Amino acid sequence: MNPKLSSRINAMATSATLAMAAKARELREQGKDIIGLSLGEPDFTVPEFVKDAAIKAVSDNYHAYTPVDGYGDLKQAIITKFKRDNNLTYTPTQIVVSTGAKQSLANLAMVLLNKGDEVLLPAPYWVSYSDISKLAGGITIEIPTSIESDFKITPEALEAAITPKTKMMIYSSPCNPSGSVYSEKELRALADVLVKYPNIIVISDEIYEHINFTENHASMAAFDDMYDRTVVVNGVSKAYSMTGWRIGYIGAPDWIARACNKMQGQITSGANCIAQRATITALESSPSKISYMVDAFKERRKMILDLLSEIPGFVTNEPQGAFYVFPNITYYFGKTLRRKTINNASDFSLYLLEEANVATVTGDAFGDPNCIRISYAASDKDIIEAMKRIKEALT
Ligand code: PMP
Ligand code: GLU
Repeated sequence: MNPKLSSRINAMATSATLAMAAKARELREQGKDIIGLSLGEPDFTVPEFVKDAAIKAVSDNYHAYTPVDGYGDLKQAIITKFKRDNNLTYTPTQIVVSTGAKQSLANLAMVLLNKGDEVLLPAPYWVSYSDISKLAGGITIEIPTSIESDFKITPEALEAAITPKTKMMIYSSPCNPSGSVYSEKELRALADVLVKYPNIIVISDEIYEHINFTENHASMAAFDDMYDRTVVVNGVSKAYSMTGWRIGYIGAPDWIARACNKMQGQITSGANCIAQRATITALESSPSKISYMVDAFKERRKMILDLLSEIPGFVTNEPQGAFYVFPNITYYFGKTLRRKTINNASDFSLYLLEEANVATVTGDAFGDPNCIRISYAASDKDIIEAMKRIKEALT
């Protein structure tokens, strides 16, 4: 904490996912053989047809500032995608393209939250929801879940968490970090509660939409009585392995999209021109073109669950989407291994880094201090070797 800095930044936690990835990188530079299972980042290269579109955009001399809310033809491709994949109808003023879904989320918090507004976060939740909400003055209210309920909230738990100050709910399905996927029926049951509280805006983060092993993706926005107050957040980072290209987008009620456009116009302007051109090609292609990645993630999920089941003390759900496992590791709390006492999930994650040379992320960062997150967006070889090392370090 530095008193010369703003109270805003002093109050903010460092992103645990990025911090762990940085730590792993640093150790690697020191010559340590670290296997990084901390970052949710597909190990595939960008599909060739998307790369070709980017190369063409460079050759075609795309270079200038882009419209703040995205190129018109990209917004049209997003509208078509929403119709094709989600049966959602939007007009161009309801779409805002941003520098990653992370910026979309930050825009939303900044334009919707006032000081003291409560933000419901079904826990475990993606690490940045909490600090982004707090940055905008919000107070986060976690709705706990358990592995027994597949880390999903019930309508009763949702209703119990609502107060007159509740302004927003943010969740992801498929969920980072639990891999849980809400079915249409489950979402409908939650919507039945939310319709009674018209002031609550729902942020539905669907960035893992295509990495879904149930093959059924449902969106809260697809319910007629929720459409006017649900914002869908999506992007190309995960499905197209374009994490570094930084393109995210929203489909939102018109008044919210216009506000995000205004916010973005003062903070970053339009997203990168080349990446936007490539995103048009990505979104216009059939999702079947990326199914090879989804198939690989499905195989790896089986592999990692099998390998984890051979290590004592890892209790897991069966993730239905995304590319993470989120095991409960409380079995190790209070135990001393190799003269190191493990009191909590942070100790455990650090122990795995130091003793197994495997980077994971503590569950605290995701609102569940009994778990750690392991990303299996890594090669088969790395997953096998990492699980071997973890087993050796723990037995
Ligand atoms: N939401 C979730 C649930 C995520 O896991 C991530 C991780 N990148 C993001 C949003 C942000 O994605 P982007 O790379 O588009 O900023
Ligand atoms: N979303 C990824 C993760 O959860 C990337 C890191 C980040 O943006 O926090 O690991």
